[in-house]
Amino acid sequence: MTDAGPSRAFVSLIGAGPGDPGLLTLRGQQALQEADVVLFDYLANPELLRYCSQARTIYVGKKGFSEYISQEQINTLIVQMAQENGGQRVARLKGGDVFVFGRGGEEAEACVQAGVPFEVVPGVSSAIAAPAYAGIPVTHRNVARNFAVLTGHTHDGGMPHETLAGVDTLVLLMGVRNLERIAAQLIEGGRDPATPAATVQWASTPRQREVSGTLATIAQAVREAGLGAPAVTVVGEVVRLRETLQWFNPASRPLSGRTVAVTRTREGASALGDVLRTRGAEVLEVPLIRFAPTSDHDALHARLRDVNDVSWLLLTSNQAITALMEHLQALGLDARHLAGVRLAAVGPSTAASLQQRGLRADFVPSTPGARHLADELPVRPGEVALHLTSQLAEDSLQRLLEARGVVYQRAELYRTEVAALDPVLRSRLRTVDAVTLASGSAARHLAALAGPEFDPLTLRVVAMGPQTAEAARQAGFRHLQVAETASLEALADAVEHSFE
Ligand code: SAH
Repeated sequence: MTDAGPSRAFVSLIGAGPGDPGLLTLRGQQALQEADVVLFDYLANPELLRYCSQARTIYVGKKGFSEYISQEQINTLIVQMAQENGGQRVARLKGGDVFVFGRGGEEAEACVQAGVPFEVVPGVSSAIAAPAYAGIPVTHRNVARNFAVLTGHTHDGGMPHETLAGVDTLVLLMGVRNLERIAAQLIEGGRDPATPAATVQWASTPRQREVSGTLATIAQAVREAGLGAPAVTVVGEVVRLRETLQWFNPASRPLSGRTVAVTRTREGASALGDVLRTRGAEVLEVPLIRFAPTSDHDALHARLRDVNDVSWLLLTSNQAITALMEHLQALGLDARHLAGVRLAAVGPSTAASLQQRGLRADFVPSTPGARHLADELPVRPGEVALHLTSQLAEDSLQRLLEARGVVYQRAELYRTEVAALDPVLRSRLRTVDAVTLASGSAARHLAALAGPEFDPLTLRVVAMGPQTAEAARQAGFRHLQVAETASLEALADAVEHSFE
């Protein structure tokens, strides 16, 4: 075969929303899940990277890190990533909306010039979200019929004063540093110095802070409160509505102001993260493992090509199913190849993964886990059970099945490796207030991330149960808290207790 088929090259320009990961659109989430490479910004919440844990992530933000990447370099990089490896899906994740002061237009132009197909996934702009999260409607019956979004970067906000004269609400982005001058210019241009004004920093995140005043006083109020970028300033009568409509109060929740890292050694988004977020914490999802192709491709394919002797396929992770389907496809086969083989799933989640591919598990144990799978599997002595798994498969399944006289075979379907943390995650991990561990292997993986500039052992650790705590102690962690029961709520309670 010489025809490589249509190129996969495709760019999704995605608006990530203002900060709260819940404000990403469903289409944005889907595009992230499909991505091979993700380029993300300073203002795009890195938590969103949990939707693309298998993708290569490249930080191209212009703030906080010494290397400055110019817009031209970003444009080139987007196109280059799309064309690399015979064509890749690139997700370009940008704060707020793609086209609202986001230079997304230039990135789209670069795609057009290079002949790379692209899509635009609009996002919730901070121009709308920051006022909304401060309880300020940008328009309101009888108060404001229109609004304008300005930038503090250009000296006239991108609009001459004559144009602004008829505008009721002004929303100012990128202006917090120049607020004094901008306010003075607006007053000079005829706006009443007594017009109500409010500035909102880090809108929609647990770090949100706001101050209010008038056009004449807002700059000083912002300075005194120590607010900085990123912030949006709203000027207009609508700001008064904040007194009645204020609804977002992140400071009143038990974990507000805390950042908690949730480590994961499994695929999928973490439910614990959601529990912690509802309690007000800022959550940093830290994948400690990644999946890689098997090291013995030929042996695997030889095993998969002929499965006539196999009675049961043992599938003990979602990744096993993803990888199995990929390998069948690479062999020019599909699910029908497994028609004569029975499928055992380790638990409901794995069974659901099979279901998504139109395959029904023939067996799922009463309680998820290798022990119950081995004890309950309806297999006869002498039958072959083929375990398709990673190089890290624990021996228990083999031991228990062999004790039942089953011919246990194992094939390395994929590899589980320690994830290389991208520099942004790594530097954010250094500053978290606590980190949760759900297993002993999580403790060991986290300890292994030690480097000259970062010692994970100094982190405050909250363990899921006594075994995990013991493993953490052995790995060298010193500040330990243990959940009372093995539930997410108990773990979240333990996180709260750790700050008492
Ligand atoms: N495309 C983005 C804007 C990029 S310009 C959007 O649509 O929101 C960067 C400016 O956006 C910042 O200087 C700040 O004014 C504003 N901004 C972005 N996120 C914000 C947030 N969570 N809270 C307050 N302002 C924010």
